[in-house]
Amino acid sequence: MGLKEVCSRAMASKTPVGFIGLGNMGNPMAKNLIKHGYPVIAYDVFPEACKEFQDLGAQVTDSPADVAERADRIITMLPSSPNAIEVYTGANGILKKVKKGSLLIDSSTIDPSVSKELAKAVEKMGAVFMDAPVSGGVGAARAGNLTFMVGGVEQEFDAAKELLICMGSNVVYCGEVGTGQAAKICNNMLLAISMIGTAETMNLGIRLGLDPKLLAKILNMSSGRCWSSDTYNPVPGVMEGVPSANNYQGGFGTTLMAKDLGLAQISATNTKTPVPLGSQAHQIYRMMCAKGYALKDFSAVFQFLREEESL
Ligand code: NAD
Repeated sequence: MGLKEVCSRAMASKTPVGFIGLGNMGNPMAKNLIKHGYPVIAYDVFPEACKEFQDLGAQVTDSPADVAERADRIITMLPSSPNAIEVYTGANGILKKVKKGSLLIDSSTIDPSVSKELAKAVEKMGAVFMDAPVSGGVGAARAGNLTFMVGGVEQEFDAAKELLICMGSNVVYCGEVGTGQAAKICNNMLLAISMIGTAETMNLGIRLGLDPKLLAKILNMSSGRCWSSDTYNPVPGVMEGVPSANNYQGGFGTTLMAKDLGLAQISATNTKTPVPLGSQAHQIYRMMCAKGYALKDFSAVFQFLREEESL
């Protein structure tokens, strides 16, 4: 991949961009690309997800291979590693028709070792792969202020940033391919631990007779403060506009959090890293999935703990 190809791709800035995976996150992200004037070539395995994009004037295709035939920059936003493998290397995958010099950006949260394997397969076809998972959730995706953690060849970062900045306010280069995923799973392991910590702390305080709003206020002016306590409090009635205020609907699903904690466990095992609290958090989120919380926001761990205490 020469610099000339990179420059010509960057200059052709309003040529179509492929977008595969139009779910909770992909939908608002692709809309932000359209708002910035990029024609979008869309595909999702679930046809209903594409309908809205057809109405917005996007071209809807029948397979990831068809997207690759029509666009030389593609963003994928899929649930997990097996979906990403299918979309890139499957029978009708991107690699079947990818053009030389194409830039493929995967924003799904997947196993860093899968990102590295995909990068190798993409490179063999003369194209470029970068991992660019996001932090920020559905609200940030809508507002276009996601944080992207980007791994891949550094010379390609500017070309990737040109697109990612339409959907995010922070686009951070992390290093070689897979390091974006590494940053993302570390962040989510800490988020899960801090959310469980906030939920059990709030629950204990309530049982000790404290008013939850008052306790949250005190935590947020003290050393226990964290994002889970001051921005996304898990206790209903403490904050407005968060999933706990809406029966834990929307937000970041418990299944997805369990998946990310599983990725952290695999990475910890591979690198012989002790992560006792990450491991405990993984078990808690897996139990929640088995007990009917799979589709609820991950802050529902508060409700889960409340149910456990009555046993
Ligand atoms: P989602 O399940 O809402 O959307 C995924 C979309 O991918 C769905 O529309 C699905 O039909 C589609 N899809 C699945 N397999 C496909 C295939 N083979 N071909 C084409 N389309 C396919 O998930 P989401 O909430 O949008 O999350 C996407 C990724 O972003 C996940 O890896 C998640 O961990 C990560 N993430 C989510 C959030 C959040 O708050 N939801 C925040 C940060 C990161």
